[in-house]
Amino acid sequence: MDLIVKNGTVVTATDTYQADVAVSNGVVAQIGTELATDGAQVIDATGCYVMPGAIDVHTHLSSPSFGMITVDDFNTGTIAAACGGTTSIVDFCMQAHGQSLADALVEWHAMADGIANIDYGFHSVVTDMNDSVFEELASLPEQGVTSFKLFMAYKYMAMIDDLTLIRSLEQAKKAGALVMVHAENGDAAYWLQKKHIAEGKTETKYHATSRPPRVEAEATGRAIAMAELVGAPIYIVHLSCEEALEEVVRGRLRGVDVLAETCTQYLYAAEEDLDRPDFEGAKFVFTPPPRPAHNHEVLWRALENDTLQAISSDHAPWSFAEQKSRGRNDFTQIPNGGPGIEERVIMTYQGVNEGRLSLNRFVDIVATSPARIFGLYPRKGTIGIGGDADLLVWDPNAEMTITQSELHHAVDYTNYEGMQVRGLPRTVILRGQIIAQEREFVGEPGAGQFLHRGKSGSHTSEAPAGMAAD
Ligand code: MN
Ligand code: MN
Repeated sequence: MDLIVKNGTVVTATDTYQADVAVSNGVVAQIGTELATDGAQVIDATGCYVMPGAIDVHTHLSSPSFGMITVDDFNTGTIAAACGGTTSIVDFCMQAHGQSLADALVEWHAMADGIANIDYGFHSVVTDMNDSVFEELASLPEQGVTSFKLFMAYKYMAMIDDLTLIRSLEQAKKAGALVMVHAENGDAAYWLQKKHIAEGKTETKYHATSRPPRVEAEATGRAIAMAELVGAPIYIVHLSCEEALEEVVRGRLRGVDVLAETCTQYLYAAEEDLDRPDFEGAKFVFTPPPRPAHNHEVLWRALENDTLQAISSDHAPWSFAEQKSRGRNDFTQIPNGGPGIEERVIMTYQGVNEGRLSLNRFVDIVATSPARIFGLYPRKGTIGIGGDADLLVWDPNAEMTITQSELHHAVDYTNYEGMQVRGLPRTVILRGQIIAQEREFVGEPGAGQFLHRGKSGSHTSEAPAGMAAD
């Protein structure tokens, strides 16, 4: 044995029990009580939970959009992730206009390989669909990319029409891949933005009224209808409000295999945050926008009862001082997105403290369910013999005040500034190596591995076989 985590309480999506976890060659080799140490490195987890490393399936590192690039790269972004308890991400590989998906993947590998500090996979984002890209979709799974994303919003940029969505769902179904959609009615959002600007409504707060809940709900319902017609599963990213959630529930009642995530910020930020003085509201310009606060309760409940399957960060770090400031006189010019890769697990855990989530359900939504949906389970997302030893030693009593200077991202603010939290990662282990201790990165730089993912699809589907790293 190389490493033993002793005296902790093991918590998975289904079980909670006292046990030691022993690691050999980067995988979990033994789970039991009073395991012999035999010269192995020992981590005493007395009073702590031992959970699977968390998985964030929605991040944008070094990501180009709005004519700029997000400020966290695969180095800083994954250090921040590790310090917050995340051991794997699935990041969005963006196709440039006219580029093949294969060439985009080559670019993303060049940015991440040997640089990422935690394990990483890619979703392909299709922004420019044509016949050759359709053909390419079928071959993505061979490259370990078993999910791809389409935008129903961002007219004249990345927005696709319904026929493209239908054909993509059909291709994905054949290939055993999962279509993810950014579900907002792009025509309606475009028209509302123009209308606001024409009426002189240029302040940041109008971000919310230019993309109201119905804009999201309509596209969510339409995407689900297309999936229903094709008979394919579909994954709704960053669901933010009750109106969209109702469409998910309606689709499921008809038997559609619809999966959906929300993001940490939708549990905390509210519409009025956009109206903070001194342009501070721009820190809350992400899309969909923060919603009226009554949605927080709805989303927490949906996470607990599996109406929502996962929680992601949608980490899209634009600097406040420079990049966000581009939109001081016109909210439509503020780059959409905010940080959260380090805060996600900690802020979600506050739901356990508040009695909103069971401990097992917390593990499920931050690790297990994303692993199942995106073809990483059971290698990732749980603690089981033969699985990667990605372990999170979690101190439920540790407290801190979230503040920018304590975080590791490269962006210049946090949306959780000043919030008191209880429950923090103490030790974060990736394939048997300690990568973060007391929220400082201590891992070997660039030791993250590319995750060649198995079949993506329903979280209730059989575990994929033959996971391999490369
Ligand atoms: Mn989006
Ligand atoms: Mn996103």
